Amino acid sequence: MMFRSAGVALLVCAGASALAEGVAWTYRGEQGAEHWAEMRREWALCSKGQRQSPIDIVASQPGPATPLRFDYRPAPLRIVNDGHTVRVRFASGGHGGSRLFLGHEALNLQQFHFHTPGGDKLHGEEFPLGMHFLHKSASGRLVALVLLFRQGAENPALKALLPHMPTPGLPEQTLAQVAVDPAQWLPVSKGYYRYEGSLTAPPCTEGVLWLVMKQPLEVSAVQLAALHRLFPDNARPTQPLRGRQVLEMP
Ligand SMILES: [Zn+2]
Repeated sequence: MMFRSAGVALLVCAGASALAEGVAWTYRGEQGAEHWAEMRREWALCSKGQRQSPIDIVASQPGPATPLRFDYRPAPLRIVNDGHTVRVRFASGGHGGSRLFLGHEALNLQQFHFHTPGGDKLHGEEFPLGMHFLHKSASGRLVALVLLFRQGAENPALKALLPHMPTPGLPEQTLAQVAVDPAQWLPVSKGYYRYEGSLTAPPCTEGVLWLVMKQPLEVSAVQLAALHRLFPDNARPTQPLRGRQVLEMP
């Protein structure tokens, strides 16, 4: 990977989001979010899509009671900084992997990564940090779980991870002696919002189910500054609802 001074990553990316070969994109400026759809025909959904993410969750309807059950487990740390974000990967499937149960549906945790600011908003509130936990069902459906953070106290899970966060351009590292436990990030309250959305980066593919945890967590100003030294601001602006309903689970 090459890395240019303005935080523009020219990607040769092995990411699960299938970032296009050698096409530079950013969140702001000439190759920023408003221009993704013009940059490649395959990215047309970034402007023409009807179910795009993130969104501002202003109104919601009570949804069917589908509790989330987390079967998240510690795993050896696999981590990479692709210039857009820091990503922690999990070997999904098989035995001992982390799973999220949405009702009876088992979803394999594949990775989590960070966004500054947080992406999805709650009632107009923008959060300085968000995390996306990406899961895949047996049928291949993508389910993204969102954690949002307000500035406040030091976050203990982030405190443990920050010293291992690499600078951009290094290959993915596996640190067998460092365990990462995804359960340590979760809020106490498991209430959430649910809506149909998309990938938040090119090609903005739709058909992604979004679960946004209602209880924000906390992150300190010092920790936010540390993340800002590792990657530039990387939140896509909120997208129109276009008639979608957001369901709210207690
Ligand atoms: Zn994301």
